[in-house]
Amino acid sequence: MNLNQKIAIIGGGYAGMAAAVTLAQRGVAVTVFESAKQLGGRARGVSYQDTQLDNGQHLLLGCYRETLRLIELVGGNIEQDFVRFPLQLELHEQFSLKAPNLPAPLHLLVAFVQAQGLTWADRLKAAGFMVRLQLAKFRLDQLQRGMTDCTVEELMTRYGQTGDLTLKLWEPLCIAALNTPIAQASAQVLLNVLRDSLNQTRADSDMLLPRMNFTALFPQRAAQYVEAQGGKVHLVCGVETLRQVEHGFELTTPQGTELFDKVICATSPSVAARLLRDTLDVSLIAALPQQPIYTVYLQYPAECRLPTPMLGLHQCTSQWLFDKGQIAGQHGLIASVISAEGLHQELSQDQLALAVAAELQQKFAFPEAPVWYKVIAEKRATFSCNAHLVRPDQCTSVSNLWLAGDYTAGDYPATLEGAVMSGVKCAREIS
Ligand SMILES: Cc1cc2nc3c(=O)[nH]c(=O)nc-3n(C[C@H](O)[C@H](O)[C@H](O)COP(=O)(O)OP(=O)(O)OC[C@H]3O[C@@H](n4cnc5c(N)ncnc54)[C@H](O)[C@@H]3O)c2cc1C
Repeated sequence: MNLNQKIAIIGGGYAGMAAAVTLAQRGVAVTVFESAKQLGGRARGVSYQDTQLDNGQHLLLGCYRETLRLIELVGGNIEQDFVRFPLQLELHEQFSLKAPNLPAPLHLLVAFVQAQGLTWADRLKAAGFMVRLQLAKFRLDQLQRGMTDCTVEELMTRYGQTGDLTLKLWEPLCIAALNTPIAQASAQVLLNVLRDSLNQTRADSDMLLPRMNFTALFPQRAAQYVEAQGGKVHLVCGVETLRQVEHGFELTTPQGTELFDKVICATSPSVAARLLRDTLDVSLIAALPQQPIYTVYLQYPAECRLPTPMLGLHQCTSQWLFDKGQIAGQHGLIASVISAEGLHQELSQDQLALAVAAELQQKFAFPEAPVWYKVIAEKRATFSCNAHLVRPDQCTSVSNLWLAGDYTAGDYPATLEGAVMSGVKCAREIS
């Protein structure tokens, strides 16, 4: 590999910093351009009322191997940086599925058979479906000849996973994993997540919640690692234009114009489509549908706590609640997560926060009003992971130009792991 080539990475989110670290590890002094004043992109720390928040509550799974590997590479320690729970899906007073301490995939089958809140018939249907998925290696075309994809709703109907099974198990799981309603979501992508998280080792299905904010967890450490290898990370330095020239690319930022041999564009799809429209056919990128995620943070007195660190609510405004006191020592701070499109988008931020507060008061006897609240609405949180969606590859038709980001081709929905894997792949393509 030519260590003297000049490589630019546009975007300091998880994909861009994964690419930067991978190249730095190989001895390349990369340059990262980040338009914001901090790294992390859609997984970044936010400060409000002297409290460290994230722009959205994120959950990692034990099977996120590349993300966990890179966090350790740049100096993190997984067991210290995260609170780790065995797989546990709990919808308050409605449904509870807990993986016992058994080897995979037995832990899951026992979890289904012991699930609370389902009839015996439904538990057996769910366990039987999991066995069929395992036999089919979690591939739709092996489950049914000729089927490459369908919606999660269609799959569940076809395999008898209806009624409570969908409402209490598959729908919350699909929305949490794919951020896409079941009537649109890709069944094959959901099966990919189930394959990696449920079917291999027991630790793969563990749920990991970080004790620190998402900028500190990886991108900030990654920047130190890159700089220690001679690279540069420029903040508040968005790339305004990218122009292909004879021997590379000319990037213009508020600090001037610079020539690079190779470029990895690791922005969100909407920015990539704008930045690259004169260089590439961006029609696939520009056409990607998007889904929102709303996070409502509510600060209560320190003694207020939920029964468990993470808890779902069945058919309520809040889908998942996280008790930041039990996760990160931020006592009395609750994060309510509402994924994918829905009726909550018709409420004003104040109305949404009041609706969430009313649920906390009714279900857990919290005070009527929180000390403060903050709604963070990410209207383009992720691409909508629809059935049959075609995603752009990391390698583009233009030589020496790559695309990294959670939206690029891969097995995963829009996740940290998908973003990191795409960045690592781009870096490894560079010779
Ligand atoms: C609220 C929320 C909750 C989520 N929950 C989870 C979860 O629980 N688990 C999970 O795995 N994933 C979750 N995700 C998804 C995850 O955050 C994303 O998949 C991931 O962060 C995407 O990373 P990325 O690097 O591909 O893109 P981004 O994070 O969007 O990074 C792109 C970067 O490019 C920068 N940029 C933009 N324009 C320019 C420019 N012109 N020049 C230079 N830089 C530029 C941006 O500022 C940004 O830093 C969630 C996302 C959101 C929004």
